[in-house]
Amino acid sequence: MDLLPRSADSRISESDCFHLHSENPEACGLDRVLRAQLRETTCAARVHNGAMSTTRHELLHAFDLLLAPERFKDYGPNGLQVEGRTTVRKIVSGVTASRALIEAAIHAEADAIFVHHGLFWRGQDGRVTGWMKQRLGLLLGDDVSLFAYHLPLDAHPELGNNAQLGLKLGLVAHAGSTGRFGEQEIGFLGARDNGESFPSAKALATHVETALGKPVTLLDTAHRPIRNIAWCTGGAQGYFEAAIAAGADAFITGEISEPQAHYAREMGVAFLACGHHATERYGAPAVAAHVAAQLGLAHQFIDIDNPA
Ligand SMILES: [Zn+2]
Repeated sequence: MDLLPRSADSRISESDCFHLHSENPEACGLDRVLRAQLRETTCAARVHNGAMSTTRHELLHAFDLLLAPERFKDYGPNGLQVEGRTTVRKIVSGVTASRALIEAAIHAEADAIFVHHGLFWRGQDGRVTGWMKQRLGLLLGDDVSLFAYHLPLDAHPELGNNAQLGLKLGLVAHAGSTGRFGEQEIGFLGARDNGESFPSAKALATHVETALGKPVTLLDTAHRPIRNIAWCTGGAQGYFEAAIAAGADAFITGEISEPQAHYAREMGVAFLACGHHATERYGAPAVAAHVAAQLGLAHQFIDIDNPA
């Protein structure tokens, strides 16, 4: 593992160097002359760059304060998953910590990556081989931090995946607790923001296809106008029964599994599978942009195309 980023001239900061040396003076392997040169190039980069910076610790604090991960029982660790350099000037956000996203973030000179789907999940094998070796190798080799928030990012009332998908589709959640349903109250229940109903589930599906630019799988099983709409992004097909119980005319999510087709037909509630990636593209950039603006950092969303 390299302790220094590959393009140290433009990205490492004086405080990074201090941090490395204060923790382990031998680790960096830089002699005094090289350290002095590094300090000079760092100062030049700072003046040239002009962007504000924060520490990795402050960035974690800002994400945690906004998303309150302690409120959720989740499938993996939320927060800082891979520790990179101390100083952060630029965040790249994306949906999944795939190799393609990590490579693109390194190319974009990010100090930190913010995603919905991180690297570590409950029940994982745990060996650092194959794709895990490649992804971790890139992050550690370039000293880039990885921040991942799963359910807390779905749930945030204004910036989360569900809130942002609602915004994209022109849907507003009902006020108070009637606007939430399902386990840990992550699902949203609401209606069209103009107060009108969709004349049919087909009309709702066409509306969603136009908004997301992608065909949807529709179980057109609600033979009535669609007023009460439940939604939960990603692989939330397991929330369908809770959506039915909450009184939805239609349920929008990313994926469908075999049982949901039967539930839709038998209960007369429409089911729309609109793509896991397609429904979860909006929360990560909204949160990262918000926190970047708060701390004066640069931010870039990189969408790695995914047919799912
Ligand atoms: Zn997901």
